[in-house]
Amino acid sequence: MTDVAIVGGGPAGLSAALFTAKNDLDTVVFDTDETWMHKAHLVNYLGIENIGGTEFMERSRDQVDEFGVDRRQGAEVQTVERDGDQFRVVTDEDDLAADYLILATGANRDLAEELGCAFTDEDVVDVGVDMETSVDDAYATGAMVRAEEWQAVISAGDGGAAALDILSKEKGEHFHDFDVPDDFE
Ligand SMILES: Cc1cc2nc3c(=O)[nH]c(=O)nc-3n(C[C@H](O)[C@H](O)[C@H](O)COP(=O)(O)OP(=O)(O)OC[C@H]3O[C@@H](n4cnc5c(N)ncnc54)[C@H](O)[C@@H]3O)c2cc1C
Repeated sequence: MTDVAIVGGGPAGLSAALFTAKNDLDTVVFDTDETWMHKAHLVNYLGIENIGGTEFMERSRDQVDEFGVDRRQGAEVQTVERDGDQFRVVTDEDDLAADYLILATGANRDLAEELGCAFTDEDVVDVGVDMETSVDDAYATGAMVRAEEWQAVISAGDGGAAALDILSKEKGEHFHDFDVPDDFE
């Protein structure tokens, strides 16, 4: 049982995990490490001048680990389904219940289709600006919601948007994850 289950640990999934875990929601990330980032070299990610994609992933993983994300590296999700008010996320070794589900599987849309999410005319997962799908409390992020125009920073933004929507639901009001310098002095 967890608050948030995230399928996919690329920029979208880990960005979502960073926000939810930082704000005290139990967060599990399943990832098979086939992120396109291993093929990329970033010079267009604002705030980072120049970094290899694999190094970016290492840093991102360290960052979410600091906030206590339960990162199940190497675990492939086989199925996801609605189970009453929750989601059931099944791997070869786990059968996890979650209140919220974030799909972040890159361009692979199979789990969204299996869950019954609506698709657009362009055959991508239909989401609003908060990244919620037609299935309540299920979110889709990154390449699966766009036919093309795939960039790491956009995926990370999608993950953040999904997480903030979940946090707003949990707090019962619009939520901002704002830190200020005094927090660190
Ligand atoms: C050659 C190349 C160069 C690129 N260069 C740049 C660049 O310079 N700048 C830039 O911004 N972008 C670049 N990109 C694009 C960038 O890599 C992607 O936009 C970004 O990785 C998408 O992030 P994501 O989190 O949406 O998906 P991904 O990074 O694809 O992550 C999805 C993750 O989900 C996992 N997964 C999938 N299914 C399951 C499952 N069932 N169970 C568990 N895990 C699962 C995968 O293993 C993967 O780790 C490049 C891409 C390529 C291919």
